[in-house]
Amino acid sequence: MTFRHSKVSISPYIYTTAISHFAKGPFMCMILNYPAIVGCFEYFQYFCTMDELYYDAIDLLKKMISTPSFSREEHEVADLIESQMNNWGLGPMRHGNNVWCITGHDSSKPTLMLNSHIDTVSVAKGWQRDPFAATETEDGRIYGLGSNDAGASVVSLLATFRHLAESDQSYNLIFLASCEEEVSGKNGIEATLPLLPRIDMAIVGEPTSMQPAIAEKGLMVLDGTVKGIAGHAAREEGENAIYNAIDVIEALRSINFERRSSLLGPIKVSVTQIEAGQQHNVIPDLCKIVVDVRTTDAYSNLETLDLLRKAAGEKCALVPRSTRLTPSSISPTHPLVKRLEILGKQAFGSPTLSDQALMPFPSLKIGPGDSARSHSADEYIDTWEIRDAIQTYITLLDGCNIN
Ligand SMILES: [Zn+2]
Repeated sequence: MTFRHSKVSISPYIYTTAISHFAKGPFMCMILNYPAIVGCFEYFQYFCTMDELYYDAIDLLKKMISTPSFSREEHEVADLIESQMNNWGLGPMRHGNNVWCITGHDSSKPTLMLNSHIDTVSVAKGWQRDPFAATETEDGRIYGLGSNDAGASVVSLLATFRHLAESDQSYNLIFLASCEEEVSGKNGIEATLPLLPRIDMAIVGEPTSMQPAIAEKGLMVLDGTVKGIAGHAAREEGENAIYNAIDVIEALRSINFERRSSLLGPIKVSVTQIEAGQQHNVIPDLCKIVVDVRTTDAYSNLETLDLLRKAAGEKCALVPRSTRLTPSSISPTHPLVKRLEILGKQAFGSPTLSDQALMPFPSLKIGPGDSARSHSADEYIDTWEIRDAIQTYITLLDGCNIN
């Protein structure tokens, strides 16, 4: 056993389980002789491996936090992860600031991808601590930018990959640490997926308190232009584009979508920006609006866009900046979802967006930490959350079928 991280104690569960296993060992040996000794040895080995994985994960997380990795500036942290993977003999591959490793590929097996992101948002106002110091408190709390979102997921999934890669599984396995997630950038997962083997299923690490999000809302941002006719404000002339926009905004606000997602609830439409007018005495002939639309699996993004255009009417042109961030979901009867249910986990629909939106295959979002701590001052992760995540991922995935 290695104790390189003396501040963290072994969880009482593992300790008592290990002790009781050892206590049973000699007795079982008397009855079953050899197999019990082997079983005892194997258990002990596994126990050691879990500790190794855990301490390595904590070490790597601290290094990641100390390496600023704002979106589109992830080069250094990608270097760090790549060199760590090399040290562990994982044979990393890289495209830009995306780094991945693959177990031996068998084309007759389905492929599971473990993915999380290495970029962070910028430093929020109100930090009381150094966001890059990776300080750990006496009670095992690590503060730092990206500790919760999504460094803890990256290191826990990488630990899981290392464990699963040691034995034969019914699936091929890929671990991908991707960049530009926080900005849905084009050089992140979208650029990397075409370079990977065909993927059948993904586990996406994001802070969900290790509860599985089996559906996630998509996003469309629409630029709206509402026309009018210019005129002098003193005379009865022109057609005020702002007044026309009021009608459009009211129509968008009260739109009623017939279908409703059972997991994600209604589609959320919010007008979030408005701009019009040049000077006080001119009736404006143009009013621009921006509409934020959180889409669900009840409609495709294109269907949603079509309904919004109909509601907005002829006076408003609605142009999407992109329709590529689609809602995603996985069947509640999928074997992995069922297995999580047995582990006492509660499936839910997530309102926040992740790289799942860019994955054209089923995916499940689950990871250590709390979504409410993301993008906020004094972001932290508790070390027990990382140990729990590694154990849960391994229990979920070791020896399971993913189809
Ligand atoms: Zn995230």
